[in-house]
Amino acid sequence: MAFTRRHVAVFVDGCFWHACPDHRTAPASNADWWAAKLEKNVRRDRDTDQHLDRLGWTILRFWEHEDPTVAADAVEAVVRRVTVTDGPPPQAQPAPMRLGDGAPEGDTDAVPHG
Ligand SMILES: [Zn+2]
Repeated sequence: MAFTRRHVAVFVDGCFWHACPDHRTAPASNADWWAAKLEKNVRRDRDTDQHLDRLGWTILRFWEHEDPTVAADAVEAVVRRVTVTDGPPPQAQPAPMRLGDGAPEGDTDAVPHG
């Protein structure tokens, strides 16, 4: 979810797919493969953060286990604080990201759109 005129990007990261420190799990079978895959997801999250940061976006990340009401309040507070840019729509909107390893698998919630 993204507030394009305020340049605020909101992510809700799944505990499993994004290796939440509280709920990360390590599947017993193919452990090496899973470890590499989840690590790659986390690295992609950080790449996304850096990309948006360079474009001047405010990034809000929440874990799927967090209280949605608390998260919504936090989003609202930030969105209210950020000044709306008047004039033509920003040109530097992030394109759908392809960071070298193909499309996200099974967790398209990580891709900002809007
Ligand atoms: Zn969690």
